[in-house]
Amino acid sequence: MSRTESKIIALRPAAADNGDAAGQTVSLYQKQQKIYPRAVHGWFAAWRWALVWLTQLVFYGLPWLQWNGRQAVLFDLAARRFYIFGLVLYPQDFIYLTALLVICAYALFLFTAVGGRLWCGYACPQTVYTEIYMWVERKIEGDRSARMRLDQGPWTFQKLWRKTAKQVAWVAIGLWTGFTFVGYFTPIKTLGAEALTLGLGPWEWFWILFYGLATYGNAGYLREQVCKYMCPYARFQSAMFDRDTMIITYDATRGEPRGSRPRKANPKQLGLGHCIDCSLCVQVCPTGIDIRNGLQYECIGCAACIDVCNGVMDKMNYPRGLIRYSTQNGMSHGWTRAQMFKRVLRPRVLVYTAILAFIGAAFVGSLVLRSPFKVDVIRDRGALARIVEDGYVENVYRLQIMNALEQPERYRIGVSGLEGLRLASESQVEVEPAASRWVVVRVQLPPQHAEPLRGHTHPIEFRIDRLPQGGQTEHRVLERSTFLVPR
Ligand code: SF4
Ligand code: SF4
Repeated sequence: MSRTESKIIALRPAAADNGDAAGQTVSLYQKQQKIYPRAVHGWFAAWRWALVWLTQLVFYGLPWLQWNGRQAVLFDLAARRFYIFGLVLYPQDFIYLTALLVICAYALFLFTAVGGRLWCGYACPQTVYTEIYMWVERKIEGDRSARMRLDQGPWTFQKLWRKTAKQVAWVAIGLWTGFTFVGYFTPIKTLGAEALTLGLGPWEWFWILFYGLATYGNAGYLREQVCKYMCPYARFQSAMFDRDTMIITYDATRGEPRGSRPRKANPKQLGLGHCIDCSLCVQVCPTGIDIRNGLQYECIGCAACIDVCNGVMDKMNYPRGLIRYSTQNGMSHGWTRAQMFKRVLRPRVLVYTAILAFIGAAFVGSLVLRSPFKVDVIRDRGALARIVEDGYVENVYRLQIMNALEQPERYRIGVSGLEGLRLASESQVEVEPAASRWVVVRVQLPPQHAEPLRGHTHPIEFRIDRLPQGGQTEHRVLERSTFLVPR
């Protein structure tokens, strides 16, 4: 057998009794079935939409807010400056971003331990944009059954214009999202003017199209597949779950045996539970699962099945909550809501809360107490040490002073650490608002003090004082360096 022939091994099912199946090839690829979620209304759907509005108002609106004559939130990568309202951050403040990510991670652990997939069901961008894209789809193509009919039907003018209108709306939302995203890194008003004249730079084009395409593809087509196959959080969150975590559950004790019945019929007399087997909970599920089969990793906790089943229970005059938020312990022990709430403050939750509170307090504290300016000292590599007039030993340094305030500031530079050490260059400098300035600083040591120190480097300290303006408190930054005395 040649190498080429041996690459593919056809799988053949065992022959059926009558031998019909012999010779058939089984495909290992299962075609993805398109899901047509039905529209749902109810308490949890209203919460989800409230979060859609809130998150999108913040995301789309924030770049347009102005603060002190500039964009309120701007991550200016070219100038290496990040503006968040009154805060001006430099790359040296990267620690704050790290702390923020740690806080977000712990908040996610905490909410997951207590409320399960609350993030996935209500606030994750994948959920939020899928909700928006599905809303557009429903408005143009109709609800579940109308969409199914449209997809299965032939290409008519009606189908063509509905499909085209949907694509136009989806692409527009995607592009606007990409534009907004880039507007956090390039002043959005300038970006808008450039976009209108098609004068965007190549990177701006790239990121607008890339982010727009990602939104379009993820929310329009991939949808539940992102949650099921691509999202890492879906995979590791089970490590944060325990038997007291709130999950969406079907009360099988109450619902089974399931079966249809007339509305006025008494289920007990028919030997039935409260589930009328209407399958609405499956039809509204964005991931296409049946929650009656128990907890499944595909469940994103959107609570659409709770809303729709509560509607069914209302119509049947049965109590609500056949599908509800509960815990595994709550379900197996038949606990009341109050009994389940008592288990919220368990050791795992307390540890997460304590860590989160500690990091949060440290984060806020360090932001409040952070220095209004930063200084970097770099030795001049070109001239490490030299002898100048009157035998003085001179070292040259470059100081970068970064003003983190939105007003011009004046600073006084001083140096200490060796007897007789003096500054031979300008000692006061002014730095523009939210700007940084490089200053060349010459430090000299008199010959009589340099003599015993020859051939060594010695630690010294730069002292940079923010000079009081209008009664503000003075602030001092100390930066260490070394002074070289040649042989
Ligand atoms: S929506 Fe409720 S009643 Fe209908 S099938 Fe689902 S669990 Fe049963
Ligand atoms: S099972 Fe219910 S909560 Fe889970 S994804 Fe489906 S509809 Fe949402």
